[in-house]
Amino acid sequence: MTTTYRHHIAGLNVDSVNGGTFDVINPATEEVAAVVARGDADDVNRAVRAASDAFRSGEWSRAKPAHRRKVLFKVADLIEARSDEIRALQTLEMGSPVGPPHAGPHPVIERSAWNFRFFAEEQELAEQRAFNRDDNLLTYTMSDPSGVFGLITPWNGPFMLSTWKMAPCLAYGNSAVHKPSELSPLSISVLCEIFVEAGLPDGVYNTVLGFGAEAGVPLVEHPDVVGVWFTGSPRTAMDIAGRCATQLKRTSFELGGKSATMIFDDADLDRAVPSAAAGIFNNTGQVCVAGSRILVQDGVFDEFVARFERAAQRFTVGDPNDPSTRVGPLVSKGQYERVMGYLELARAEGKVLFGGSRPEGIERGYYVAPTAIVEVDNSARICREEIFGPVAVIMKFSDVDEALAIANDSEYGLAGYAWTGSQHTAQYVAQRFSTGMIWINSGFDRDLRQPFGGMRLSGVGREGAHRSREFYTDERFVSFPITPR
Ligand code: NAD
Repeated sequence: MTTTYRHHIAGLNVDSVNGGTFDVINPATEEVAAVVARGDADDVNRAVRAASDAFRSGEWSRAKPAHRRKVLFKVADLIEARSDEIRALQTLEMGSPVGPPHAGPHPVIERSAWNFRFFAEEQELAEQRAFNRDDNLLTYTMSDPSGVFGLITPWNGPFMLSTWKMAPCLAYGNSAVHKPSELSPLSISVLCEIFVEAGLPDGVYNTVLGFGAEAGVPLVEHPDVVGVWFTGSPRTAMDIAGRCATQLKRTSFELGGKSATMIFDDADLDRAVPSAAAGIFNNTGQVCVAGSRILVQDGVFDEFVARFERAAQRFTVGDPNDPSTRVGPLVSKGQYERVMGYLELARAEGKVLFGGSRPEGIERGYYVAPTAIVEVDNSARICREEIFGPVAVIMKFSDVDEALAIANDSEYGLAGYAWTGSQHTAQYVAQRFSTGMIWINSGFDRDLRQPFGGMRLSGVGREGAHRSREFYTDERFVSFPITPR
């Protein structure tokens, strides 16, 4: 029997006001995975009212930081305890491979729990500043929660990316209305249950399920929503920015990328090759920080390409419920057709080294074989546009300045990776790579104290530690004279 997933408003799971629903499709089988409530402005109004009431009550917004910490640590513990269940729903909604058995929670789930623990501590330990201007004046700053935020998230990391937004939002005392992606709205239902069990007051966190135009737009435009934290595509961000501008709402945008991985002649290929392959084939390439453009110095180009092809063969494509599978399907029919369109283009703009089609022997599901394209120029559309699939372009360069010129010639500026044995090259590249985040001799890794975000079309705003606090709070000061003795 197909399960129905409903909105979570004021601590309860509820149907849409108009009773509407839509189907979520299992991308591995193309069958209906679940029926989901289809929210619109009426549901958003209900959720924002619940969030505003909860905020005004002060039960959470004025709670002692130590209490908020205790509740959010409980949330983190419960997330880890329900790791398998969350992973199973992510497999159903977006085809994420379950992966080999491992002791303890799945690494992605551990990161989700860590988001709550980190911001629970950050808000408790945050310092306030106080100044004595002279003997008779004391002034100090406060950071107060701002109110109700709209959190809008994409489909490619439905659980972890959502916790990344909501952990700071809630930790600093705000209420939230969350609109997950219509393509992958199932795993978040576990979090709704966890919040109730952990003792988060009803109405502090609410979810409205549904489509961007029907549920996202009314959330963004609701006058009681003080700000919108959005992760998704640049085009949607521009639409949200325009709507928020008319109400002077604060926004933060984490968007797409077309990130470059540079491989220099002196790179340690034993480490660089598997990392570059994981950087584009993990999560079927549906990763904002994917290293989708691989730039290789001419001295090691042939060796790199041969080794990269062998590494790609280890990314077994197939049923995401099979523990040996490393590459599952793309999330949806729309995304599959989009990636297939780029593969068609790739045959005109370059040469397909391997992949470039459906994997052989898989009849159903939105599967695309890991693919590499060579003999392509950075001006080609497949080098400039975010494909968001398991498709790497590999280009050649002869010196560090040429590598930087190619890497920085992009509308995006999210992540950059460089592999080199030379400290001087590493430092030279780091200083000139025009991206928000740079990893030298390593793949993606995240420290929540660092500013996460991108340049140009990759985003506006940064998240992490005090930057998240600044976004989610109003900093104010109090100034008062001390009566002279
Ligand atoms: P999308 O922009 O199509 O949708 C994202 C969310 O916005 C969904 O919940 C959608 O329903 C909602 N939405 C759509 N139109 C809306 C509107 N007009 N008003 C309000 N909400 C609206 O993006 P997607 O296809 O779901 O996600 C893929 C994109 O997200 C890629 O570009 C990827 O790089 C990016 N992304 C970025 C990061 C990051 O941290 N930088 C992380 C993950 C994904």
